[in-house]
Amino acid sequence: MAYKACPNETCNRKVTDRSSGQYDCRSCGVSSAFRYKFNVKTSICDETENQWVTLFEDAGREVFGMSAHELMDLREHDASAFHRRIEAVQMEKYCFRLRYKLENYNDTLKPNVTVDRAEKVDRSSADYWRDIRRRIDLCYT
Ligand SMILES: [Zn+2]
Repeated sequence: MAYKACPNETCNRKVTDRSSGQYDCRSCGVSSAFRYKFNVKTSICDETENQWVTLFEDAGREVFGMSAHELMDLREHDASAFHRRIEAVQMEKYCFRLRYKLENYNDTLKPNVTVDRAEKVDRSSADYWRDIRRRIDLCYT
């Protein structure tokens, strides 16, 4: 769900724990802190099918409404609030823009799909219902 990343704002590299309680970044060296960053593998679906995707920090913030660091802090200090947050997003509607890339795994091409952008669908907006109406009309023309 999240990984320990370098605290340097311009570096998102994963850090490794040192026995001294510090963290090692391959680019920036040793630091005394880290920031959690999202790396969420999940399934999303629409009316036609489902798709396994990976969400990184920006899309994760949009979906969970907080940073990975805040969410991991919640998991550590208030487990029931953390679980409520996870459950709340499971059946929520989002508009996703996906990045699709074929990658070679052991001589087999497999799709690697990441969420480039996530935007929560506002069901109370008139635009949402206009779009639903347009989609229904498309089905009958
Ligand atoms: Zn770094």
